[in-house]
Amino acid sequence: MNFIENIDYTTKIVGIIGHPIKHSFSPRMHNLTFQSQGLNYIYLPFDVPPSQLGESLKAMGTLGIRGLNVTLPHKEKIIQYMDHVSEEASTVGAVNTVVNEGNQLFGYNTDVNGIVESLFPYKEDLIKSTVTVIGAGGAARGVLYSLIRNFKVSKINIVNRTEERSESLKDYFKDKMHFDNIATYEMMPRENLELYKSSKLIVNTTSVGLFPNTDDSPTDLAESFNSSQIVFDLIYNPLKTKFIELAESQGATVINGLKMFIVQGARSFELWTGNKMDIDSMSKEISDLLV
Ligand code: NAP
Repeated sequence: MNFIENIDYTTKIVGIIGHPIKHSFSPRMHNLTFQSQGLNYIYLPFDVPPSQLGESLKAMGTLGIRGLNVTLPHKEKIIQYMDHVSEEASTVGAVNTVVNEGNQLFGYNTDVNGIVESLFPYKEDLIKSTVTVIGAGGAARGVLYSLIRNFKVSKINIVNRTEERSESLKDYFKDKMHFDNIATYEMMPRENLELYKSSKLIVNTTSVGLFPNTDDSPTDLAESFNSSQIVFDLIYNPLKTKFIELAESQGATVINGLKMFIVQGARSFELWTGNKMDIDSMSKEISDLLV
C-alpha cells in the first residue's frame, strides 16, 4: 500500500507551526521516513498567526494531533501553553517540538541536540576555549546553552547587528546559567577582526548568507579565519555559504547546518513515534536537494 492509501481514521497527524510558514524540508524529511518505516503518520505545515497560537494548541487536543515542530515566531511564546517543559527548553527559553501525550503538552528543544551533535567531534578543543557567536536570535540561545552546558567554554563573545539584543542575551544567560564571561559587540567586520582571530570557534547563527542571498556573509574578511579554528554556520541552504567558503579558504575546520537540521528532526521524530530516523540516509536525501 502506498503512503496516501494508508491514510485513514488511525493516521497520526504531526506538523510544523509558524508564521509565515516558509518553504521547509521538514515535511519531506518526516513523510519520507514515515513511509520508509511503514508508520501511519502524516506531517503537515500549519500557518498560525501569533494571535491564534493558544487556540491552535487547544486544537491539538480536540483534533488529536500527536506532535508539532515550532518555528518563527512562536518558539518562545509557546512555552506558556505547555503542561511540561524539558530542562533544555526551559533554560534556553524556546520550544521547537511539542508532544501531545493524552492531552498533556510536553515541550522540548531538539535544536540543542542538533548543535551538540554537530560540535561533539571537537569537544576536547572547545573545553575552556574562547568562542564567538554571531547573532542573538532564537538559534543563538540554543548555541549559547550548549557551549556553556555541554562544551564548558570559558569565554563567549556575542557579535550582533542590534546591540540591545545581544545585551539581553548576555543578561539572560548570566541569570539562567550563572555564566558571567560574556562580552557583546556590534557587527563591524573590520573592528571585530581581532575577536574572530582569537576565537577557537566562530558560529554564525544569523540568517546572513541564507538562500537566495548567497553572496552575503557576516564577515567578508578572509583574515577573520585561520587553520586552527572551527567555523560553524547554522545555515544549510546553501550547504556552503560564503562564510564557510572564506573560512575553508584559510584552512579552518568547517561545519554547515545540515547535521543540526537532520538531528533536530530525528530527535523530534523519536519523541513522536519512539522510532529512530536514519540520519545518514536522510542527510544524503536532503543534501541532494541543496546546492
Ligand atoms: P531570528 O531569531 O530571527 O534571529 C536572526 C538573527 O540574524 C538575529 O541575530 C539578527 O540580528 C540577524 N540578522 C538577520 N538579518 C541580518 C542582516 N541583514 N544583517 C545582520 N544581522 C542580521 O532567527 P533564528 O531562529 O535565530 O535563525 C537564524 C538562522 O539560523 C537562520 O538562518 C536559520 O535558518 C538558522 N537555523 C538553522 C537551524 C538548523 O537546524 N540548521 C535551526 C534553527 C535556525 P538582529 O538582532 O540585529 O535583528
